[in-house]
Amino acid sequence: MSLSGPYDPGNIFAKILRGEAPCFKLYEDAFVLSFMDVFPQSKGHALVVPKAVAARTLLDLPPDHLGPLFAGVQIVARAVEKALRPDGIRLAQFNGAPAGQTVFHVHVHVIPIYEGRALVGHGAAGMANKDELAALAERIAAAV
Ligand code: 5GP
Repeated sequence: MSLSGPYDPGNIFAKILRGEAPCFKLYEDAFVLSFMDVFPQSKGHALVVPKAVAARTLLDLPPDHLGPLFAGVQIVARAVEKALRPDGIRLAQFNGAPAGQTVFHVHVHVIPIYEGRALVGHGAAGMANKDELAALAERIAAAV
């Protein structure tokens, strides 16, 4: 998948946004939905996804969605910080398969960093335990 091309409404984030696939929800407003990454690179790895746009990458996102998307990112990052007390938070955002993108609905990663704990590589993590994800999601959502 290159940077340009048609938006595929069958992508997993589109299904989650339509309620056709489940997620561990953290936060939602008129512009974004945030939920746990099920293949987390670290404890509390969250995703923030813009709603109501058929945008594959950040390059396709209407400019008036940029502010609300990053406002959502900040809300989620603050909640992650409050709930899990990481030592740092990395934001990541991949555009196009050669850059590392695997799901083609634009999104931002919120990845807690814990000193002394190596980060699992992007795309290298196994699926997390669902009970653990649910418990983490509950803590983060409560901290929003
Ligand atoms: P990308 O590689 O496109 O930047 O990020 C896509 C992210 O979505 C990856 O970190 C991957 O672990 C995550 N992911 C893939 N499939 C699912 C899924 O079905 N549910 C959730 N919550 N995350 C997913």
